[in-house]
Amino acid sequence: QGKGLLAVLVRPYGQGKRLLLTQDITERERVDATKRDFVANVSHEIRTPLTVLAGFVETMATLPLTEVERQRVLNLMGQQAKRMQALVGDLLTLARLEGSARPPADQWCPVTRLTQVVEQEVRALSAGRHELIVDTGALEALAGQESELSSALGNLAVNAVRYTPEGGRIQIIARRGDDGSGELSVVDTGPGIAPEHLPRLAERFYRVDGSRSRDTGGTGLGLAIVKHVAQRHGGELLIESTVGQGSRFTLRLPPSRVRAAVTAAV
Ligand code: ADP
Repeated sequence: QGKGLLAVLVRPYGQGKRLLLTQDITERERVDATKRDFVANVSHEIRTPLTVLAGFVETMATLPLTEVERQRVLNLMGQQAKRMQALVGDLLTLARLEGSARPPADQWCPVTRLTQVVEQEVRALSAGRHELIVDTGALEALAGQESELSSALGNLAVNAVRYTPEGGRIQIIARRGDDGSGELSVVDTGPGIAPEHLPRLAERFYRVDGSRSRDTGGTGLGLAIVKHVAQRHGGELLIESTVGQGSRFTLRLPPSRVRAAVTAAV
């Protein structure tokens, strides 16, 4: 593919410029292809619930339904509308994160405040189906944009609830890495992820199992959002997983953004 491009496009440009020009064009091609894929993906993700909704509208308009049936159809319509809302919400979040070159505000965010919000969300979604352990004692605060950090941690925690079967354990852990970095981890005892998927997992719309993710309400954008938030804070998203045992997702921030908890002297 790259060679075809070289033959067609480089010939008119004379000596010395060939390599540079080829790289430029190949890179632009890659960016264009990524954009095209993204638009195709978004269109597909919106079209599916819309098609289902249109079908339900027709059912309601043409079939004589009992009250019970009418309620059931309305419920299903509501689910599809929520799916579209979640998708558009995540798309806007991603667009905002990608569009703003400005680094996030350096506010000290107390870690307990970040995790409390997430803990409530997890408890509501899990509805007692999982054991939840929160251990945040090692970190006092992280510097950054509080809304971004809590939504990133929230995305990881919501995934843990969604993908971990009933009776599993979910842990939210804050700790200091060996190099002084700050780590917010969500650990689950879910199905785990095969190694070949890990490098692509945080790509937009990449899913290990498409239908299961959609059934559980996933937009396919959660980890892409987390990765962006991490990078905007000079950090990274780490994913470790063992099939059959579970996964650990870690949002790691550099030491300059960490205020460790003062431990009692022994
Ligand atoms: P989705 O909305 O599909 O969950 P994400 O970007 O949040 O999108 O996650 C991408 C994919 O990573 C998911 O579709 C799922 O296959 C996998 N995944 C994410 N979190 C977990 C987890 N805790 N356990 C197992 N698989 C996960």
